[in-house]
Amino acid sequence: MPEKYHIKTSHVQPRLPRIGKFGVVDWREDCARCHNCVKKACIYDKYREENTFIRDLDEVHTLYYECMGCFSCIQNCTKNLLTMSINSEYKKLGNAYWTPQIFGTTWLEAETGKVPVSGAGYRGKFSGYGFDSMWTDMSEIVRPTRDGIHGREYISTSVDIGRKPSYLNFENDKLSTVLPPIISLPFPVIFDMTPEEHSLPVLESCILVTAKQTGLIAIIDSEKWKDIKLENKEDYLEYIAFYLHPNGHEITNDILSKTKLVEIPDSNGVRQQIDSIKKNHPGIIVAVRVPLNANASKRVDELSKVRPEVIHLVADSNGSEIGVENPRFIKDVMREIHGNLIKNEGRDEITLIAGGGVGLSEHVAKALICGADLVSIDIPLLIAIECRLCESCKPGDYCPAKLDKPIDLKYGAGRMTNLMGAWHWQMVELMGAMGMREARRLRGDVGRAMFKDELEEEIYGPIFRK
Ligand code: SF4
Ligand code: SF4
Repeated sequence: MPEKYHIKTSHVQPRLPRIGKFGVVDWREDCARCHNCVKKACIYDKYREENTFIRDLDEVHTLYYECMGCFSCIQNCTKNLLTMSINSEYKKLGNAYWTPQIFGTTWLEAETGKVPVSGAGYRGKFSGYGFDSMWTDMSEIVRPTRDGIHGREYISTSVDIGRKPSYLNFENDKLSTVLPPIISLPFPVIFDMTPEEHSLPVLESCILVTAKQTGLIAIIDSEKWKDIKLENKEDYLEYIAFYLHPNGHEITNDILSKTKLVEIPDSNGVRQQIDSIKKNHPGIIVAVRVPLNANASKRVDELSKVRPEVIHLVADSNGSEIGVENPRFIKDVMREIHGNLIKNEGRDEITLIAGGGVGLSEHVAKALICGADLVSIDIPLLIAIECRLCESCKPGDYCPAKLDKPIDLKYGAGRMTNLMGAWHWQMVELMGAMGMREARRLRGDVGRAMFKDELEEEIYGPIFRK
């Protein structure tokens, strides 16, 4: 049995007051001063914490929004003085895709490294946009996968990056096929470059430390390598995939030879560029970064003829096709691309990385089910360090999360590592419930999921279709 993958997590306190969802408004004028006031009975001790919070306040405009929303004090106050309120600052977080709920979950995961538990079940909508329009089939909670969740058996979240030969040749009982280089990643996630629209925070050092702590890989713009200030920074090279910027700073052969993966932008000369990298570094796997636009599916077909080892498809940050009037969501495009590659008998030759719109652990599993081998993430790492995804975010802008100044490495890497720890545990839970023991086998296994559009078509189509 392989060594168990485990991400070490520890509590990392937020730097700023939490932007919680609930607050309790307390109309003290009519208070009867009951001896057994309901506030003292708060099982989360929030009223006492609020007093301490107000005493140590740094900024006068900050309010205390840590109530857990159990309603106990509100229902039991003898004079009905207490009212639950929803924090308006919370409602303003993110955008239509990156909802306040995603922020709340990510912040909790980044702080504690634990799987968030919502208590009285899920009270949200039954389905929604994007990954919320598909459900994983959790009907297989049986041994031995349940044992995997409790650590008695092993559920592997490892995936491979690189070409897998479709068959092996043997001569005189000896393997004669030359095996291509392959990277085994312990979790199907790599860290992408910070998105252009949120270019204010400088996070490369935090992301690199996180990559090392989690055994994952971070894509780093080759332009930025010289500016990274880390002690013994060459020790991080095995966790880096340089994005070889077309007109950017050259990475020396010596540095490049210590990495395992590089990424190049898509162009007509992709094959020549791959060959030129491979000439000096035959052990390096080369990924081609392809924008997920209206042409993406056709482009993957064309590219598959020049046999790149990895294609990294990058949608916009909300997971939608880029530059399309009625964009499809990344999961639908991935299903199409995965299906086409199978038809052309080239699926195992190419590793597909899906980027854009992956914001929760369940999205990782869902992207794999739709045909990706692994996913790339960027925005969840920003949210982990309390970013609010403001509309304008560039050097010189006001940053409510104080990310315009360098952040403490221990804090940044600690929160990002915690996030990955929580995602890993959720992935194990999810796979256990699906009866899966191998993340590799999740790829394209649409039988483990239900899709809203298909169900509606199947059920209502025969009734309402003309
Ligand atoms: S609603 Fe519940 S958690 Fe919130 S302050 Fe009242 S008793 Fe505490
Ligand atoms: S909080 Fe806003 S300004 Fe600060 S880094 Fe995030 S998006 Fe940019």
